[in-house]
Amino acid sequence: MYGITELSRSLKGSRALVTGAASGMGRATAAVFASEGARGAVTDYDADGARSVAEELTNAGYQAQAWHLDVSDLQAIRNVVAEVEKAFGGLDVLINNAGISGFAAIDDDQYDTVWDRCLSVLLTAQQQMIRAALPALRQSSHPRIVNIASTEALGATAQDSAYAAAKAGVSGLTRALAVELGPEGITVNCICPGPIDTAMTAFIEPEHKQVFAKRRTALRRYGLPEEVAHVTVSLCLPASSYLTGTVIPVDGGLMARNA
Ligand code: NAD
Repeated sequence: MYGITELSRSLKGSRALVTGAASGMGRATAAVFASEGARGAVTDYDADGARSVAEELTNAGYQAQAWHLDVSDLQAIRNVVAEVEKAFGGLDVLINNAGISGFAAIDDDQYDTVWDRCLSVLLTAQQQMIRAALPALRQSSHPRIVNIASTEALGATAQDSAYAAAKAGVSGLTRALAVELGPEGITVNCICPGPIDTAMTAFIEPEHKQVFAKRRTALRRYGLPEEVAHVTVSLCLPASSYLTGTVIPVDGGLMARNA
């Protein structure tokens, strides 16, 4: 290209590990990586779900492999990261996506249980995944970490304080690690999805979704998992090498809308 440095927009040969990849945004993210020529480690607590996603991708001619992984189990994290590294000959991309919802009022009897589970699965697991993957990422030519938070990290809902606190923690973790790992060329970014149609939001009545989306989002609709996945994957291109420490809402304009 004349006059400007050529940076690769190809993920061919990249090796990506996605947590919570049996469903929703994780599944869509694994599929976008695979379709872009990356090798995808499809990991999930739901072993059958992960296997069927990996099979689907393999049958479509892509490179994907499934691993059972509960991200709240530190030893399992270490084992799976080591196995993926061995199977793929390294690791370039870590997507911390696995998640659960966790509604409870602050004075609810179940609050402590919900709090502990949210902090464990949504926040502690992300730092443990990063620490386990770091030695492999340090060997990569384009090391990328993307942490999935939520717009609940930016402006929250009643009875969602455990989830919101964990997700706000993810944005802090992202910024601090971007600064800490920046000198090594490792980028760390965070995506805050808004209302997205996945299993996590399936309990909400369709009419309620429509009313909420019309009243609150700029685009007047829920998002598709693929619409988040494409942004996530774009942050992992070798060419996305100067983008780090960002917290990006992918929310149909939810956070931008004032009236
Ligand atoms: P989803 O329920 O479709 O997928 C979540 C996946 O995470 C499932 O496959 C589940 O098995 C897996 N998972 C749950 N606990 C796990 C554990 N301990 N170990 C490993 N895997 C585990 O939900 P989704 O909407 O695709 O959620 C993906 C991420 O996006 C989550 O972090 C969620 O908090 C976040 N998010 C979702 C929305 C939304 O509206 N759907 C909005 C903002 C943020």
